[in-house]
Amino acid sequence: MNGTQKGSFRFGRIAGIDLRLHYTWVIIAVLIVFSLGAQFRYTNPDWSTLTIWGAAVITGLLFFAGLILHELSHAMVAKARGLPVNRITLFLLGGVAQIEREPESASTEFWMAIAGPAMSVAFGFACLAIAHFFFGWTLWTMAHNPGAAIFEWLGYINFVLAAFNMIPGFPMDGGRVLRSIIWGVTKNADRATRVAASIGQVVGWLFIVYSLFRLFTGEGIGAIWLAIIGWFLIQAAGNSLALRRSQTALAGLNVSDAMSRDCGNVPGDLSVQEFVDSYLLHTGQRCFVVQENGYLVGLITPHEVRQTERQNWSQARVRDVMRPLAKLHTLAPDTSLFEAMETMAREDVNQMPVVSNGILLGILSRGNLLQILRNRAELTAA
Ligand SMILES: [Zn+2]
Repeated sequence: MNGTQKGSFRFGRIAGIDLRLHYTWVIIAVLIVFSLGAQFRYTNPDWSTLTIWGAAVITGLLFFAGLILHELSHAMVAKARGLPVNRITLFLLGGVAQIEREPESASTEFWMAIAGPAMSVAFGFACLAIAHFFFGWTLWTMAHNPGAAIFEWLGYINFVLAAFNMIPGFPMDGGRVLRSIIWGVTKNADRATRVAASIGQVVGWLFIVYSLFRLFTGEGIGAIWLAIIGWFLIQAAGNSLALRRSQTALAGLNVSDAMSRDCGNVPGDLSVQEFVDSYLLHTGQRCFVVQENGYLVGLITPHEVRQTERQNWSQARVRDVMRPLAKLHTLAPDTSLFEAMETMAREDVNQMPVVSNGILLGILSRGNLLQILRNRAELTAA
């Protein structure tokens, strides 16, 4: 879920973790409040309109607070096990904790995955306890006052949430638990990922088939939502399979094994027009480092050139339009290639300068990575 940072805004911060809302969250929030309103109106026809919608909004807000608690538990276990967590984002399909690396052991994966559903169960019990002790709700009577109705619904929905998340299709929590168990038993992370991701894809297809069936039997929005989750699962499971395959292919290789050493150098005071004419169009290279007095100061690619209006090309200097060093993520030559690939994907960049002690050694591009992956694939196919 790397895409959730764009189009989202920060609304809070807990324990060093940003809480963000993605714009697609609005859709699910509105759906939930409206379906709650309809349900309260149906079960409690004597409530006033204000009570109905007030209760629906409060229930919705507490529901999302529960989702954040669920994601926070994943995040806290991750942090305790040394995996950095940048943010928790609420979006169309619920919540997601952006954990920066994959867990390195089966037990970390297990506790990290189970923590979320465990929290949902605990939150569910807490809500039922509030409904009982504060609003007189019991298991055998219909909830009539708003407090009882709100916390009863929250209690049950969190049990449903925990159960749904424990469906063993990777990358859902249940799929991660399954992967960690296979991983722990077989000591083979590769096989564990293959099995769990394959089941994840099967579960995704079952969701889609089931929701199509429900759509034809007259159910609307709810069915479509399940299909979206199914489609998301299929994508995510496929991605983790591909990621695992590249991890195997890149094993044992460092950045210095793959980087290009002959990067084009451009002086910073060159005009953009000259840069385009005599470097970009002339050499076929796409990425150039800008050096001044022997030091790396930035990077310039066709992307930066396009940001500048064509009529300004003869006035603007390369140093004015380049991506300056301060904004560049650099790699150390002994970083593993797989880690470099993850960083590139996360930062959404196509090339990164390789720097040691302030001196530029080369450039690692997505092209370099693809070349290696392709060569390895040919070798294994042969
Ligand atoms: Zn979860």
